[in-house]
Amino acid sequence: MGVANDKSIAWGIAKACHEQGAELAFSYQGEALGKRVKPLAESVGSDLVLECDVTNGASMDALFTTLQDKWGKLDFVVHAIGFSDKNELRGRYVDTSIENFRMTMDISVYSFTAVAQRAEQLMPDGGALLTLTYYGAEMVMPHYNVMGIAKAGLEASVKYLAMDLGPKNIRVNALSAGPIKTLAASGIGDFRYILKWNELNSPLRRNVTTDDVGKSGMYLCSELASGVTGENHHVDAGYHVVGMKAEDAPDI
Ligand code: NAD
Repeated sequence: MGVANDKSIAWGIAKACHEQGAELAFSYQGEALGKRVKPLAESVGSDLVLECDVTNGASMDALFTTLQDKWGKLDFVVHAIGFSDKNELRGRYVDTSIENFRMTMDISVYSFTAVAQRAEQLMPDGGALLTLTYYGAEMVMPHYNVMGIAKAGLEASVKYLAMDLGPKNIRVNALSAGPIKTLAASGIGDFRYILKWNELNSPLRRNVTTDDVGKSGMYLCSELASGVTGENHHVDAGYHVVGMKAEDAPDI
């Protein structure tokens, strides 16, 4: 869930899962994106491409009912969905409106729990749920604003869902990706500067790609991660461990 085009993080994960033999279905939001997703799905042998707006419970029900009819059960679900008004992804967090706060929480936080409720029914033998988050949940990042609050809620949901669904052998994890130029990221103020900052200051001295995220996402969705749940796995070239870099210190 969440492929918009070939730059999407979800597409990186889909490709990595396909390489390991996964049979895939894709959901998209609105026909305009559907036109882009269908050829991508075809290229990995999937003809199961279904419309779903996560703010609409009936649309979510229809998606999972179709999956149940086609497959009977699911092994894993990737939730790579987030949205906020781009006018509030700049300036100060304190100026966030109640309307955008509610919409951001609905699409970017609650939708993962709504997915978990439906996926649970299709995972009688266990499975894996994966969502995408960002370091702006843990630390203040420029312009991330209400999305930072949403991602903090999403990361807490991962822990509660892991505890609820663990007895059914359903693992629930988050992957915290470093900044990547995607459609969603283009709404964030000064995003090019954030990319440059991460490149210069992360231990690997580079930004991550959707292929980097894809491989780690595939691991978390697969039996390779059979003992991992409730985790927030950073795939950010190590940026989250850095407090301060020494080499640029001026003489004082
Ligand atoms: P993207 O624009 O390719 O994907 C975002 C997806 O969310 C789109 O497919 C869009 O259709 C979908 N979406 C938005 N509202 C929806 C709704 N109501 N119903 C259904 N789908 C909806 O961008 P991306 O960067 O690949 O984003 C995927 C996830 O990764 C998001 O949760 C994002 O916050 C997270 N993330 C992105 C970065 C980054 O720098 N790009 C870093 C860390 C985490």
